[in-house]
Amino acid sequence: MSHPARAYSMNSTQVESQPRLKVIYPDETQSMVKASTANGQPVFSDNKQLEFTVELQEEIKRESERLETATPQEILRWAVERFAPRFTMATAFGPEGMCILHMLAEIAPETPIFNLDTGYQFKETLELRERVRERYGIEVELKRPALTVEQYEAVNGGPVYKTDPDRCCFERKIRVLHESVVGMHAWASAIRRDQSSDRAKAAIVGWDKKFQLVKVSPLANWTKKDVWKMIVDEQVPYNPLHDQGYPSIGCWPCTRAVLFGEDERAGRWSGVAKTECGLHTQD
Ligand code: SF4
Repeated sequence: MSHPARAYSMNSTQVESQPRLKVIYPDETQSMVKASTANGQPVFSDNKQLEFTVELQEEIKRESERLETATPQEILRWAVERFAPRFTMATAFGPEGMCILHMLAEIAPETPIFNLDTGYQFKETLELRERVRERYGIEVELKRPALTVEQYEAVNGGPVYKTDPDRCCFERKIRVLHESVVGMHAWASAIRRDQSSDRAKAAIVGWDKKFQLVKVSPLANWTKKDVWKMIVDEQVPYNPLHDQGYPSIGCWPCTRAVLFGEDERAGRWSGVAKTECGLHTQD
């Protein structure tokens, strides 16, 4: 299967000292990028979805097996060379996402990165977006639902997260994500296999049938210790709430600090039978 060859300028291990580097797309790919959003994200004239052909299935299986022992940086380089400029990343600015963002700042800083801004995020999370801009020069685009929180709660007679968190996640995250990946063929996921039983089966490269995208999980084989080692060693910015007992951070109404000995995701949707917002499940 052919894929667009791309030329990147050389990068450095010193992210802070490097100006943002310009990607040179081949003519064929450049002609499909008809415009950019205010944050410089590509908007494609051709929004054709990637077809899940037998060849693609075989490629995904082959590359996933081959990359099983690769470093996260090698996995990301492969994903960028194979799919950019139709390779993207959604981040909630968690520690794993910050590590991937840190790596992409070196490997391919033009990668469009976005955050699903539900309107219910912690102020510390939104402030981290500003720190990313200062540190890396990367503008993480905020993707928002059509209705503000005030409008949404008004039309629903109050906060939907209290009565139907699945619907709230769908309407304020999943639907927005579907709209945000139009024209994209692959996305990076920050999941680790050891985070939960839901995530334990994640492939390095898989097919995300919910979003019709190739899903690349460069940190699937990393542990929490690996993530924090990179954050400490390379001074990657992180959400200060992690120092206040919040190992996993989502929207403020659905996140609490965890107690000593609790699972790292125990503070998400605590007290209700919900463990994922729906981004990483296939139902
Ligand atoms: S995490 Fe909570 S507030 Fe955020 S979208 Fe889901 S249900 Fe709504």
